[in-house]
Amino acid sequence: MNKINDFSRKSPGRLYIVGTPIGNLEDVSFRTIHILKKVGLIAAEDTRHTRKLLSHYDIHTPLTSFFEHNEEKKTPYLIDKIKKGNDVALVSKAGMPCISDPGYYLVKKAVENNIEVVPIPGPCALILAVAISGFSTRSFVFEGFLGRTKNQRIKKLKELLKEKRTIVIYEAPHRIEKVLSEIRKVLGDRQIVVARELTKKFEEIIRGRVSEVEKIFSQKKPQGEFTLVIEGTK
Ligand code: SAM
Repeated sequence: MNKINDFSRKSPGRLYIVGTPIGNLEDVSFRTIHILKKVGLIAAEDTRHTRKLLSHYDIHTPLTSFFEHNEEKKTPYLIDKIKKGNDVALVSKAGMPCISDPGYYLVKKAVENNIEVVPIPGPCALILAVAISGFSTRSFVFEGFLGRTKNQRIKKLKELLKEKRTIVIYEAPHRIEKVLSEIRKVLGDRQIVVARELTKKFEEIIRGRVSEVEKIFSQKKPQGEFTLVIEGTK
C-alpha cells in the first residue's frame, strides 16, 4: 500500500493538484517532492519556471505546458492519460493551481470523469497574507484580481462597501497605486496590509491606512508581487 496516500482508487490514474513555492524554493514539502517524482507527467503553467524547481530537487519527470489559453484544449489529453492509468500532477507558476491560476476546468472535467483529485498542500499568497494581516481571520473574502479596467475595479469595490469580512485581493505592481486610490475613494481610508514579495529576499509587510501606504509608494515605486488585505467594515 502507498504510505503517502492510502485512499482506495476510483480511477486507474490520479490528478494531483500541487502547490509550489511563491518565491522561496525551500517552501516545498517532502510529500511534494515525492509526488512530483512519482507521477508520469507534470502539467505546468510555465515549464521554464517549473524546470528550475525540478532541477533544484533533482526531479526528472516529463513536463507538458498547461496555461490559461490552452487549458480547454489540453484537458481532454490529460484526462485521457489519467484514464489510461497515468498519474498527472498540475502545478502553476507559483502557489496553488486553480487560485487565480489555471486548473479549475481540468479539475471540473476530472470530477465529471470520476477521476480521483488529490490536493498536495503548498504556499498560497492569499492565505499567508491574511494570516499575518492582524485583521479578523474568522471569515474573509478573496476577490482575486479586481479587474484590468477602472470600471471593473470600481464596480467590484462598490460591491464590497458593506463587507464586514476581511477582504483579500491580488494586484499587479503597475496597478497598485491606482488601485489604492480607488480603494480609498470607494471604501474609505481604511486599515490595509500590503504584503509584498512574500517568502522572497525583499519581503515587506506594510501596515497602515490606505492614504499612508499611498504616501509610501509616491516616494518609492512599487515593485514585485503584492497581495492586499483590507479590513472589513465595522
Ligand atoms: N496561485 C497563486 C497563489 O496561490 O497565491 C496566485 C497566482 S496569481 C496569478 C499571482 C498573484 O498572486 C500576484 O499578482 C500577487 O497578487 C499574488 N502573489 C503571488 N506571489 C506573491 C508573493 N510572493 N507575495 C505577495 N503576493 C504574491
